[in-house]
Amino acid sequence: MKKTLSLILSFFLIWGCSTSERQSQSWAAGEDRIKVLSTIAMIEDLVKAIGGETVAALTLIRGELDPHSYQLVKGDDEKLAMADIIFCSGLGLEHGPSLRESLVMSSKAVCLGDEIYQTDPSVILFLQKTPDPHIWMDISLWAKGIPFIVSALSKQNPEQADFYKQNGEALTKKMMESHLILQQEMAKIPEEKRYLVTSHDAFNYFTRAYLSTEKERAEGGWEKRFVAPEGLAPESQLSSTDIRLILTHIKEYNINVIFSESNVSHASIVKLLDSGNEEGLHLIIAKGPLYGDAMGPPGSPGDSYLKMIHHDVFTIIKYLDHTDVANGK
Ligand SMILES: [Zn+2]
Repeated sequence: MKKTLSLILSFFLIWGCSTSERQSQSWAAGEDRIKVLSTIAMIEDLVKAIGGETVAALTLIRGELDPHSYQLVKGDDEKLAMADIIFCSGLGLEHGPSLRESLVMSSKAVCLGDEIYQTDPSVILFLQKTPDPHIWMDISLWAKGIPFIVSALSKQNPEQADFYKQNGEALTKKMMESHLILQQEMAKIPEEKRYLVTSHDAFNYFTRAYLSTEKERAEGGWEKRFVAPEGLAPESQLSSTDIRLILTHIKEYNINVIFSESNVSHASIVKLLDSGNEEGLHLIIAKGPLYGDAMGPPGSPGDSYLKMIHHDVFTIIKYLDHTDVANGK
């Protein structure tokens, strides 16, 4: 009876709130399920696929907010305290001081990137000695986080350990199939066209996985296929030297398309476009952004983890493969 009353009360409290508040309250009311808080939606997607109905999943950094600089807001402390497990991406992604401190202090936090790095440091990229946190941009690398989710859920609910293991295996298979398909599709584009310019340094793993040649993946040399005016976190300032270096690169590799990112200001790529076109280049900005640091809203082409990477690959293929599209015709 007490439980029924509490459910009825929860219903009325939830009713009449914003979608975001409703999701948080519904999550908090999920009494019989493992409360899992993920810092970014790309983790929550995996958690839901592995945990199914046994988990109540919630993302802390919602919508198109920047995960690099996110700071805790009202209500976040409660979510962090109520969660049975907190999954973070790690490798320095969540470096807003208040969130970083909470994750460091929490015994419930499992940072997938840090765990992957501990297991196999060779797969992690470093830019000027700083780890590149954007590991979700390579599906095969993101799949390496699955065993850590399976393990954490199994510790919370040992009776479901087999269920989590099976779901984890099925998800790994699905992700690896997607990864290979995207590699094959991108490989149909001549390698001399496979160069990418976006807003910030979110696409290094993506470039290594999908734009490089097999030889470059094995021996290195893929790095030249991607440049961005802003660094690993998009708040960095843009100098005229940065612009100059990228324009030199654009000329060297005959690049004529620049891609925007859904949750990053377009200011730096517009500056790049204007500077390039003043010098007689014929640069265009691709219509529709790529998804880098955030998934798209529900109903958009990037509203799930795999859809966001598919969207990125096929948008890039469309522009690199068809000079008529690239020329804006
Ligand atoms: Zn980023």
